[in-house]
Amino acid sequence: MYNRRKFIKISAAGASLAALSNSAVAKAISSTTDAGFPIVISTWDFGIIANKGAWKVLSTGGRALDAIEAGARIPEEQDISSHTVGRTGLPDRDGHVTLDSCIMDENGNCGSVAAMENIAHPISVARLVMEKTPHVMLVGEGATQFAVEQGMKKEKLLTPESEKLWKEWLKTAKYAPVMNIENGKKPGDKYNHDTIGMLAIDAKGNISGGCTTSGMAFKLHGRVGDSPIIGAGLYVDNEVGGATSTGVGEEVIRNVGSFLVVELMRQGYSPEDACKEAVRRIIKKKPETAKQIQVGFLAINKKGEYGAYAIQSGFSFAVCNAQQQDLLIKGKSFY
Ligand code: ASP
Repeated sequence: MYNRRKFIKISAAGASLAALSNSAVAKAISSTTDAGFPIVISTWDFGIIANKGAWKVLSTGGRALDAIEAGARIPEEQDISSHTVGRTGLPDRDGHVTLDSCIMDENGNCGSVAAMENIAHPISVARLVMEKTPHVMLVGEGATQFAVEQGMKKEKLLTPESEKLWKEWLKTAKYAPVMNIENGKKPGDKYNHDTIGMLAIDAKGNISGGCTTSGMAFKLHGRVGDSPIIGAGLYVDNEVGGATSTGVGEEVIRNVGSFLVVELMRQGYSPEDACKEAVRRIIKKKPETAKQIQVGFLAINKKGEYGAYAIQSGFSFAVCNAQQQDLLIKGKSFY
């Protein structure tokens, strides 16, 4: 029921996973030393459709920031299977769909919205916060109000299917949010969290990134994860590279994960090694918790080399550049 794969095949973006050659998937490498840009990389299987949107911008000489916004809007709009992003996200414990997102450009500008309701494209609102306000972050009703003032449509996001799943959850959950909620899968894995985290380098070599999610399903009302927090769910430094995360946001926030990955790359770590070290620190601080949860990092350096690492197996990311438009790669993991 929560399996995104079967739905992504029917994506209107024409980026069907069914079209992926087995060999592309089977490569299963998790890092590269092939430098080059433009390039865009994104978390999870739905990174494929997001990358397609970004590539339209990058391949025609566009700016990385525009590519990130265009790409992230696709799963926000279309991935009707995921229940983890945009208009089809699962609600919180009280039935509210609350969305988190952030964006960061090559100049260190950033914008973010958290716990925002009734607006389907948080990535665009985050960009508007960055470009049209003196602030970095707007939350809750204020974020919705700002989005409407900027001309965005206010709409009900709770779909009948999401409402049904929430009501089913209420029957057994005793109204208590827990990390491990769905189908016995690990919290933070692709069945119960999932963020689209994206990093792009444009033809000029400039880096931008973005993150968008509905966060943890059936969370406490008001809960905010790592995804809209600059430095946790996303960080870009145009001198070094960028990083983004997915999984249980609480553990990423505690470790300021994406900032850490970028700083490790600054010290000379490869993108994969930097992600691995960030994951290792999460495990080291809470080894027992770590066995039960998923956290994954994805990173790119200034040369266009990329890599990823996760606590658990099952993490995937998508790569798109001039050589390959729909490559899906299995991230390496500790467990
Ligand atoms: N990191 C997101 C959060 O904790 C969700 C996810 O990527 O699974 O809200």
